[in-house]
Amino acid sequence: MEDRPFERRTEIVLGRGALARVPALVGDRVFLVTDPGVVAAGHAARLEALLRDAETEVHCYDRSPPNPGEEDVEACLDAYRRASAGEAIQWIVALGGGSAIDTAKGCAMLACASGRMADYVGRGKVDVVSPKLVAVPTTAGTGSETQSFALIGERGTGRKMACGGTAPVAAVLDPELTLTMPRHVTAASGLDALTHAVEAAVTRRRTAESAAVASEAFRMINGSFERVLAEPNDLNAREAMLHAAALAGLAIENSMLGAAHSMANPLTRHYGVVHGQAVGQVLPTVVAHNVHDHAVRRLYADFSRDNDVADRDATDKDAVRGLVARLRALVREAGFGPKVLGVPASAANELAAEAATQWTAQFNPVDVDVRDFKRLYREVLS
Ligand SMILES: [Zn+2]
Repeated sequence: MEDRPFERRTEIVLGRGALARVPALVGDRVFLVTDPGVVAAGHAARLEALLRDAETEVHCYDRSPPNPGEEDVEACLDAYRRASAGEAIQWIVALGGGSAIDTAKGCAMLACASGRMADYVGRGKVDVVSPKLVAVPTTAGTGSETQSFALIGERGTGRKMACGGTAPVAAVLDPELTLTMPRHVTAASGLDALTHAVEAAVTRRRTAESAAVASEAFRMINGSFERVLAEPNDLNAREAMLHAAALAGLAIENSMLGAAHSMANPLTRHYGVVHGQAVGQVLPTVVAHNVHDHAVRRLYADFSRDNDVADRDATDKDAVRGLVARLRALVREAGFGPKVLGVPASAANELAAEAATQWTAQFNPVDVDVRDFKRLYREVLS
């Protein structure tokens, strides 16, 4: 565990109808970044109306794609510059899932600095003074709304780059916006938040506070994920998931992530496995691997007992076994089995070589080398 101050730069505005509070958070000219699905759901029109009622000038860019690449950020930046003609717009509002928020973050980084996204791989590469960003998530998963990284595909290779800028100044969490998520999005994004919470609780880079925030996020997800899947209109459960995803985002800002994310990225890049599904399906296997280290087993055991997954007096071994079983149950509840379908086991060697080069692997609580990754992939591939 490291001893560093907990970075929390994002104000959280939480509650039903919180969308109406966006106009009070921004200046009198706004560049709104969103995507066609959010427009179709009617959320963008609602936010535009709220802003215009508050006499805010709005320029809407609604072409943010899923899994944005460098060229998508540049297209957004062009639109921002055209809207800014004469005088730079000081506020960007991102309305959508992690992809729209990441596109907006990338746009803010390039507008503030220069160059291309590939220049900003790593932590805190650009201190974005202006334009400032307000994030309004419509999914409960990525936690992009409370952290400073934008995940952007590299031009040409498609390699996912974690580009480090400045976290949004505010995250507006309105559970009503998440009611329009289809079940498969609720499921995959929930698994992403779950994985963020579990990985951030134990990384090498964690602090006492980031581990506690991750644990809190897990507790909320553990108590409400099944409920949002069974009762998608339950606003209390939706609010808990949305809040938990944002807290998990805060936790990973400070803790970073682990081997489940290292394994998932190549699965998404080469086989199109949805990120949340990929991290969720490999997570129990990664936890079961990590607990071979005695000290790390104790960490997970405490995590399991603290969150009532295991009884207070359970042994470390039983507490960890209970945690892995609970994770498998949540993955099953989300509609996925223990095997990642559609990816042949023969791909394990190639995937392992790539997973070992992933940035997040270094933060995993135990070392994971190519041989370990090969074995882990063989366990989860069919
Ligand atoms: Zn993730």
